[in-house]
Amino acid sequence: MAPERWLFWHRRDLRLADNLGLAAAAAATPAVTGVFVLDAAILSDPLMAPARVWFLCQSLRELADRWRAAGSRLLILRGEPADLIPRAARAVGASVVAWNREVEPYGRERDRQVAAALRSQGSRVLVDWDQLLVDPEAISTGAGEPYRVYGPFLRNWRGQVEGRADSLEPVDAPTGLLDLDPAALPAESAPLWAALPRLEAPPTAEELGFRFAGADLCPCRPGEAAALAQLQAFADGGVNGGPLAAYEPGRNFPGEAGTSGLSAALSFGSLSPRQAWAAAQGARALARSEEALGSIGVWEQELAWREFYQQALFHFPELADGPYRSPWRHFPWDNDPARFQAWCQGLTGLPIIDAAMRQLNESGWMHNRCRMVVASFLVKDLIVDWRWGERAFMERLVDGDLAANNGGWQWSASSGMDPKPLRIFNPFTQAARFDPEATYIRRWLPELAHVATADLISGEIAPLERRGYPAPIVSHKVQQARFKALHAALPRG
Ligand SMILES: Cc1cc2nc3c(=O)[nH]c(=O)nc-3n(C[C@H](O)[C@H](O)[C@H](O)COP(=O)(O)OP(=O)(O)OC[C@H]3O[C@@H](n4cnc5c(N)ncnc54)[C@H](O)[C@@H]3O)c2cc1C
Repeated sequence: MAPERWLFWHRRDLRLADNLGLAAAAAATPAVTGVFVLDAAILSDPLMAPARVWFLCQSLRELADRWRAAGSRLLILRGEPADLIPRAARAVGASVVAWNREVEPYGRERDRQVAAALRSQGSRVLVDWDQLLVDPEAISTGAGEPYRVYGPFLRNWRGQVEGRADSLEPVDAPTGLLDLDPAALPAESAPLWAALPRLEAPPTAEELGFRFAGADLCPCRPGEAAALAQLQAFADGGVNGGPLAAYEPGRNFPGEAGTSGLSAALSFGSLSPRQAWAAAQGARALARSEEALGSIGVWEQELAWREFYQQALFHFPELADGPYRSPWRHFPWDNDPARFQAWCQGLTGLPIIDAAMRQLNESGWMHNRCRMVVASFLVKDLIVDWRWGERAFMERLVDGDLAANNGGWQWSASSGMDPKPLRIFNPFTQAARFDPEATYIRRWLPELAHVATADLISGEIAPLERRGYPAPIVSHKVQQARFKALHAALPRG
């Protein structure tokens, strides 16, 4: 008798190795078929960044090859998952559909609808967590509440992760799978198979109507193989004094390649968090100095920030709709469209801000230090609603992720769960501390390459030296005082 066929639905887990849902399916039956739906709702979202579509399409190409190498195939469908997944299950005669869970409100509602449609046609559904080291339902305060503050979350998270070392070992990609034979499908399935909106091969971003010109500049490399190679270069290099061993303080300098560049891989799941964690543990075992161990610990804390924001969004989906702290709903923003446009285009006249925004516009990615600086500037110097910035980031970022982006913006705006009442970055002291030779500024603002380093950092560039580069559109000192006064007048809460 032919083994039972299962369908495995990929979403934000674009890999075969260490994919827990897929491993569970392959343990149950060798007859597993993969499916990915180019979701019409996601692709038509006005916030969809061309960089993300590029990363997705490139990753899908490799994923399809890997399915073939494993003995089976990946179906690429285009349309509505609630319609297509149940149809695909019937078309291939799958009795079970498996997938890994998500935290975003849209994904959770979509999955609820797909699961209901599958059950109503008699298909079984198998779902579990995969994208987090500690899933959001497994971590809570002593009072059984979700965490609102990172510090205590981190302590609990680290304790759990370190206590479960064995179960966090990455699992291998399945091999020896059994492909379906479309010619041998039962008579009732054949018309369903013929009617499935299947793409013969994964599309390119251009075929989906997106154009991303920054592929060569983007540090995030699509696909499972590239993610693992990047992880290895970052972590193993750490043993020999490379990026991970020097992550603290290297992570702070945007002109250096001091961070992993793995954010898009973690967001799309071409890399698993267990693979990232295992690489950090490998580097720990070989580390030769307290500095290296400290650096590895700081990188692990960044992985914990990722999980903190995901558990926050899972338990407080209303974060996606606006400020966590309610008085911020009434903040009297200036929301000047011309100033906002200048910020978006990297034309504010403040070199560190403009360099960062040009990096984002050209490469689809921005260094974390600069994300904090430009976010603070938009909110606290230009007095623009942080949600405008949150959207502008999502329209551009290759790693754009609702939980991390919303968390980062609420942290920067001071409207979020973070207990610190007000955080204002001075763009000039930030540039002086973290780009002291103005390497980063010159890299992204080539029209200012001739300007002296001290002037690039202070932003005080003589009019003749500007050669078309704008004068600062605001005074940091004046705007900071205005912002503080507006903030002081907000009701407490
Ligand atoms: C305003 C703002 C918006 C942001 N938007 C996003 C976003 O849309 N998507 C995104 O993945 N990150 C976002 N971040 C967090 C952070 O800037 C990026 O994760 C980081 O720059 C990615 O570079 P990396 O992979 O080299 O990180 P590394 O320094 O190598 O860190 C390793 C991994 O840890 C995670 N991580 C690191 N810092 C954070 C953080 N502060 N919050 C959550 N996860 C973190 C990422 O998955 C990252 O890949 C945002 C931060 C701010 C301040």
